[in-house]
Amino acid sequence: MLSIYIHIPFCVRKCLYCDFLSFPASERDKEIYAAALLKEIETEAFRYEERLVDTVFLGGGTPSILQTAHIEKIMDTLKNCYRFSSKPEITIEVNPCTVDKEKLSRYKAAGINRLSIGAQSVQDSELRALGRIHNAADFFAAFHMAREAGFDNINVDLMSALPGQTAERYLETLLKVTGLKPEHISAYSLIIEEGTPFFDMYGEKEGENGVERGLPSEEEERRMYEETGKRLEEAGYCRYEISNYALKGRECRHNTTYWRRHDYAGFGLGASSMVENVRWKNTARMQTYLDAYGKGKIHGNVKEEIQRLGRAEQMEEFMFLGLRLTEGVSRAEFFEAFHEDMEKIYGPVLQQLLDNGLIDTGERVKLTSYGRDVSNYVMAQFLF
Ligand code: SF4
Repeated sequence: MLSIYIHIPFCVRKCLYCDFLSFPASERDKEIYAAALLKEIETEAFRYEERLVDTVFLGGGTPSILQTAHIEKIMDTLKNCYRFSSKPEITIEVNPCTVDKEKLSRYKAAGINRLSIGAQSVQDSELRALGRIHNAADFFAAFHMAREAGFDNINVDLMSALPGQTAERYLETLLKVTGLKPEHISAYSLIIEEGTPFFDMYGEKEGENGVERGLPSEEEERRMYEETGKRLEEAGYCRYEISNYALKGRECRHNTTYWRRHDYAGFGLGASSMVENVRWKNTARMQTYLDAYGKGKIHGNVKEEIQRLGRAEQMEEFMFLGLRLTEGVSRAEFFEAFHEDMEKIYGPVLQQLLDNGLIDTGERVKLTSYGRDVSNYVMAQFLF
């Protein structure tokens, strides 16, 4: 099996907290990029002739900012150049304000069967503080249009710990969103990344100073984190990964690929891949990408940071990626992958984490709820 990620690096405008590879562009530049992307998808296909594609994720940026005809061409090229499993999961990320009923219906007709809507909040003041281009009404309209267009598998992205956000207001967002009954909810806390306008506004002003600047206090943030788990579980969502919740059977198959270390190929600017334990990233420089796949070119090399993972690195990833999943990691699968008992490699680490109440062990090793709260610490213990 193979998963495919396709990166569309364009957005209407940069949000104030965003450090993703995304930027505004003219229609002409988007068109040139789309042509190069098609070329890459086509010319890389020979590497995966033996594989069945089980998931595709069109992410960004804002994929829905491309003309619908470009998305249709991407879908056609995939179908013509790759073999698919019988029921592939094909997701596109969309932002409210960049979709309408016709666009969504055409996505559906092209074979896209899952939508991921970047809502983040349903409070207009919070959306303004984030620098988002949409308001709450735009999100609700997009959600309803998606249902009308026939999408029965929708994710909604939410964020907490936002400037000006209180636990009460966040709870209101959770209730309104669960009221729509999306099949999946991703709920992340805001992380203030260096190099973003938010870093200049709040980055060095954490703690008390951050509160003065309008960030929620640590206790408030803690309440939001706890409310997320509690309210979503009450509404019937199962927390299957640290920040991801789904109705039964609606877990995101594409993202699960990453946590289970299955192979995925990334196409487009800056896209990451991992195939047969080799990781690489496509160049993040647009000119280099276009030089490789632009007009008239048939074969380009855009791969950078190529890293063949050694056995130790594979074991580390097996543990720290797999432990993100609520089901944890299987001792039998560890043995199957490495022909060694997990106990032999990680015995003392597992014992120490067990003694501290951070993991449960049995046939599967899983984070406890305390372990989930301090997951970064737990994951770090598995690095050699
Ligand atoms: S829409 Fe998403 S990718 Fe685009 S600027 Fe905002 S956060 Fe970044």
